Amino acid sequence: MTTGPGAETPQLGSLYQQLILEHYRSPKNKGEMEDATVEVHMRNPTCGDEIKLMLRVEGDRIAEVKHSGQGCSISQAAVSMMSDMLTDRPLSDAAALADRFTEMMHGDEEAAKDRSMGNLRALAGVRRFPVRVKCALLGFDALQESLKKLGG
Ligand code: ZN
Repeated sequence: MTTGPGAETPQLGSLYQQLILEHYRSPKNKGEMEDATVEVHMRNPTCGDEIKLMLRVEGDRIAEVKHSGQGCSISQAAVSMMSDMLTDRPLSDAAALADRFTEMMHGDEEAAKDRSMGNLRALAGVRRFPVRVKCALLGFDALQESLKKLGG
């Protein structure tokens, strides 16, 4: 793969790379939300990634997740995977997932093998490309900021 969005994706192994490109090309839960409970906008100036994360919260549960913005394949795939996993989950699960993912991106081998991380494990290889770690974490940074705003 030498052209198109794939050209900027670090070599992560073909299976994982495929998964990342799938989410990049057909992101889950992309769009705007009129009735968001909380909305956070985050930028990663080193790469030019931008993510607006919107959550609709019902009780202590995330009923709906939307994200919009633009950026590299890593940032967009990560937020797409994240949104997919957060829908219909308790806020406490979201906080735990954000912590676990951050641990993985900072080199925690156990976290990288944790099955509760689902497809997000595809991003573990990004650790080998330190400048891209921020790209992978951007959506989760927005999530942690959202949880903070919600008072959790
Ligand atoms: Zn990026």
